[in-house]
Amino acid sequence: MNEIKIDKIIRSGRRSISLMISPDATLTVRAPFLTPLFYIKKLVFEKRAWINKKQMQIIKNGGPQKPKEFVTGEEFLYLGEIHKLEFENRKELGLKDRRAKVIEWYKKHALQKITERADYYSRITGWKFKSIAITKAETRWGSCGPSGSINFSWKLIMAPLDVIDYVVVHELAHLLVGNHSARFWDKVRAILPDYKKRRKWLKENLTKFKV
Ligand SMILES: [Zn+2]
Repeated sequence: MNEIKIDKIIRSGRRSISLMISPDATLTVRAPFLTPLFYIKKLVFEKRAWINKKQMQIIKNGGPQKPKEFVTGEEFLYLGEIHKLEFENRKELGLKDRRAKVIEWYKKHALQKITERADYYSRITGWKFKSIAITKAETRWGSCGPSGSINFSWKLIMAPLDVIDYVVVHELAHLLVGNHSARFWDKVRAILPDYKKRRKWLKENLTKFKV
């Protein structure tokens, strides 16, 4: 059998095995301390179709990405467009602080822009929300609370505006319908007839959001 290259195995007190493809297309396996290597290799082989698909996606999206350094000149996504970072006082700040500064900037702009869009769609639909918050969620673009609060990941501000609008309308529609039933999608479609195209963009461009 053809062996799949495992770039890193991280053993810990965890109870299950997980596979992760990083933005640089490498494969990391997390496993319990005592899992035998042959077992890990067997599992990786069984999951080869998934691994291959993920790695192909990265190549399709413009190739493996190096971890960000948060230095002047480095490229960052904002509203779907690439911008070059310009850092002041960069010498005094360590990597962790530079990253924090960039995320702080993103969060501030995310709150401004997403609130503006939510207000707009709330006005034209009549679907009212009580409060809006920006979260540090890594894998959920948006969520909504039982009392009319809507939340969005700060990362969403990297997406093009039409994609942001889709996530906003999606969460607003959840204020009326809590699940993903046909009734829910009818509501979304009534506001954004091309919502599927926007949703597809999000799914296909996940690696662009790695910060
Ligand atoms: Zn939903």
